[in-house]
Amino acid sequence: PARTRVAPSPTGDPHVGTAFMALFDLAWARKTGGSFILRIEDTDRARLVEGSEQNIFDSLDWLGLSPDEGPNKGGGHGPYRQSERLETYRPFVDKLLADGHAYHCWCSADRLKEVREEQARTKQANTGYDRLCHGRTREERAELPGFAEHPVVRMLVPDDAPTHFTDIIRGTVNAPHPDDQVILKADGFPTYHLAVVVDDHLMGITTVVRGEEWISSTPKHLLLHEWLGFDLPQFAHMPLLRNTDKSKISKRKNPAARLLWFKEQGYLPEAVRNFLQLLGYPPASDDAEVSTFDEFVADFSWDKVNTVGPVFDLKKLDWLNGHYIRNLTADDLADRIVAHAIDAGQLPADFNPSHVAMLRAAVPIIQERLTLLADAVPQLQFLFTHDEDLVVAADAFASLREDAAAVLDATIDVVSGLDPFEHDSLQAALRTSLVEGMGIKPKFAFAPARIAVTGSRVSPPLFESMEILGRDSSLRRLKALRA
Ligand code: ATP
Ligand code: GLU
Repeated sequence: PARTRVAPSPTGDPHVGTAFMALFDLAWARKTGGSFILRIEDTDRARLVEGSEQNIFDSLDWLGLSPDEGPNKGGGHGPYRQSERLETYRPFVDKLLADGHAYHCWCSADRLKEVREEQARTKQANTGYDRLCHGRTREERAELPGFAEHPVVRMLVPDDAPTHFTDIIRGTVNAPHPDDQVILKADGFPTYHLAVVVDDHLMGITTVVRGEEWISSTPKHLLLHEWLGFDLPQFAHMPLLRNTDKSKISKRKNPAARLLWFKEQGYLPEAVRNFLQLLGYPPASDDAEVSTFDEFVADFSWDKVNTVGPVFDLKKLDWLNGHYIRNLTADDLADRIVAHAIDAGQLPADFNPSHVAMLRAAVPIIQERLTLLADAVPQLQFLFTHDEDLVVAADAFASLREDAAAVLDATIDVVSGLDPFEHDSLQAALRTSLVEGMGIKPKFAFAPARIAVTGSRVSPPLFESMEILGRDSSLRRLKALRA
């Protein structure tokens, strides 16, 4: 059984890349009967953002990608926040120092900057730290310029460090020769590189799934594994998601890089999950783009995962979302529309119960045309408006023909006399009276009623809308436009 993990840093809104990795982590864990772990990598104290961790928990739960173990789930390999594991890392640093694989470095930030600038100016082939501190005691080093009181610890990377490794998606992958990477910072916190290796080992991670931007770090991790005597996990470097112009998606440039964006827009989690799957994994056939998570797991194999940066095509997501919306029961869809609308501020939290009932009744008539949950309330707003508050749109008013008054009178007659007041009998009666009786084309026969009842030229199906609204309300609106 595999143990996989996703290891986001709580440095802002969760990134869609985190969900992308989590999906593949979870698929592999399920395929092998293993476990999927969430680890919070919060060692960069300067970049922490309040609320970010909770947003990570919530958005993974929302997507159905909840971890089996994690800070919010517990588990036998905790704690799952790196800031709570500081004591854990120290002995490994001591071992690396004792074995001569690591050394203290007292160089100040200013000195490191000067070294870098000098290397750039003289176009040196070997960049990276110049090892001034290596082999020196604190006292010896203090005599030299650019000394800082609190040292960091660096890896002593040998000349023959690995520069390639095996990736289960990509095969043999080349990576640059590492430099003397800092593994323990002056504040006593480990850097990502040390913490990730120690934690992946102690948490029993068998398969490291992460973005391809980490390929260049992997040789450092291979060295640390070897020096600490840890078994190597498998590595799977996923392609980075790209904008339609092929640039890497980032939160700065693309709102859809924020995981919360999808929820805010009114996408269904099952559609987003399916979308992320298609970004990384080919469908079994062209007409198999819609797939459940269980189908994905059943088919899953690392060698099928894309290596070319998948383009983030929101048209595909819209299509998937419409598909999943149409496949919900009307009640489920209504619940989700109401929850989303309240979250998004489209409806007040104390939304009138009689309006909820109308919304439920109306969902089946708009279900076919919805792309996003957020589209529903604007389409149904006329139902939740008091008759006297309904505003007829200017373009709708202007589109009324000269015969509108006569048509409205006839419509009012039909609506007043019809019993029971139901959409199919209403449609039949209006057709008889207006189309057959008055000789008006259907296109023009029902437009005045639509405008009167909904305030707009475009609306959900008219006769159903009138039935849901009820006879009295429909009549008041017809009469208001007639006057
Ligand atoms: P941005 O650059 O979008 O403002 P960021 O660079 O701060 O955000 P990071 O914190 O670097 O985002 O990344 C967060 C997580 O998302 C990391 O695990 C990273 O691997 C992943 N990630 C970032 N960009 C992408 C991408 N284009 N495709 C897939 N995963 C990505
Ligand atoms: N904290 C790293 C990130 O946010 C984890 C990378 C990894 O999975 O090793 O991307």
